[in-house]
Amino acid sequence: MDVKLRKSDTLHVIGELAAGIAHEIRNPMTALKGFIQLLEDNIEEDYSMYFNIITSELQRIDSIINEFLILAKPQAVKFIERDITQIMEETVKFLSAQAVLHNVQFQTYYEKDLPPIYCEQNQMKKVFINLIKNAIEVMPKGGFVTITMNSASDERIHISIQDEGCGIPKDKINKLGQPFYTTKERGTGLGLMVTYKIVEEHAGTIEVESELGVGTNFHIYLPLRKKERK
Ligand code: ADP
Ligand code: MG
Repeated sequence: MDVKLRKSDTLHVIGELAAGIAHEIRNPMTALKGFIQLLEDNIEEDYSMYFNIITSELQRIDSIINEFLILAKPQAVKFIERDITQIMEETVKFLSAQAVLHNVQFQTYYEKDLPPIYCEQNQMKKVFINLIKNAIEVMPKGGFVTITMNSASDERIHISIQDEGCGIPKDKINKLGQPFYTTKERGTGLGLMVTYKIVEEHAGTIEVESELGVGTNFHIYLPLRKKERK
């Protein structure tokens, strides 16, 4: 029988599978990390460089696993009315040290008294973290990340995260969100995939505006009420 999966079904299956594997890898990883830490105290200095490499590669596996685990079990996610400004403020605070390290300054414009958003708080934070991190990472010499939140209409909230980085070539825009698409030496190419997936689960949309050499602006639109998904 010729059974064809629609693209979204395929993504769903891949997501479930990836999350399952990620979960299985987590336990042996924990054991590895524990024993490597024990070894580290007893190792000769000559070998410390190897340890740094091992630790950094373990961290990399960890971040890949964490991205995939986010794709797991949407039914475990609870949507509650939340203050989106507060979620953004917490995220910005969380990333402030990283921003200072990269010579990046945040400019924030939050419309007053924005209505609450029906969302899963940690996932929403993850979206903001991924986009703001990308913004920081494309400005090696530093610059401004401008974050704006305002009501787009009676039904939607608009959030924009704008950088002054390299910009994205037009023919690469549709690659954003594809698993493992990265232009960074140490990138995972999973951040945007997770970001797009979470926003989609919140019945929201993402639009990308970008100009080479000028910067990129990611716009997120979120509905005030959770809509039934098609
Ligand atoms: P990673 O950050 O690990 O590369 P992402 O999924 O977060 O993975 O991003 C994928 C790719 O999209 C990046 O490698 C980069 O090429 C491009 N990209 C994402 N955000 C921006 C941005 N703000 N400016 C320019 N390019 C970006
Ligand atoms: Mg990223």
